[in-house]
Amino acid sequence: MIELKNSEEIEKMRAAGKIVAKVLATMQVEAVPGVSTWQLDQIAEEIIRGCGAVPSFLGYGGFPGSICASINEEVVHGIPSKNRILKEGDIVGIDVGAYLNGFHADSALTVPVGKVSSEASRLLTLTKKSLNKALELIKPGIHLGDVQHAVETYATAGGFGIVRDYCGHGVGRKLHEDPSIPNFGNKGTGPVLKEGMTLAIEPMLNLGGDDVEVLDNNWTVVTTDGSYSAHFEHTVAVTQKGYLILTA
Ligand code: MG
Ligand code: MG
Repeated sequence: MIELKNSEEIEKMRAAGKIVAKVLATMQVEAVPGVSTWQLDQIAEEIIRGCGAVPSFLGYGGFPGSICASINEEVVHGIPSKNRILKEGDIVGIDVGAYLNGFHADSALTVPVGKVSSEASRLLTLTKKSLNKALELIKPGIHLGDVQHAVETYATAGGFGIVRDYCGHGVGRKLHEDPSIPNFGNKGTGPVLKEGMTLAIEPMLNLGGDDVEVLDNNWTVVTTDGSYSAHFEHTVAVTQKGYLILTA
């Protein structure tokens, strides 16, 4: 069942979303060569707690960090570690959630570390654009499949692989709510969007093929072919006339 939120509840999610946005803005500055993903995690947790919120991911299913930090061929669910030091040319996906006043917000972006290859740079630019293209469609009355189709179309045109085993989701009182939102789909299919739905849309695109696998740590998802992967995500609310990004 897709839970609708009233305007007061959406305000609460917006408050959580602003904290998430603050963390991600800081990560863009702090993700430089020589920094470990553990250090990034510490900074993120400090910001979240400093704002009176709780990191949504810490302890979720036993996850040990406040952020997921996924480097290069890592797609999502990278575990922050003192041994993972960023170096020039890496790309690092940072995914973060904050829980405040009973509601979660969830957002991600992928940061270039120093100067990256033109291929990597193109992957980042177009993955972010695929998210924006999908968001622009959102309004009451369209089908969720229309949104999914927009990501797929954009990714395919760019020649990228689409991660099919992980997807976006509803978000609110719980970090993961109905519906599931794959990054592919057909127009005119799936639930019809209604005012008050709150959704996390999160394209994950690869420079190579679609396939991914999970490492022995049972968390980190990597591309099977070792190609770089990018991830961008926003939590949005469906409004009367369109949408509102809650994690901007
Ligand atoms: Mg996320
Ligand atoms: Mg998410």
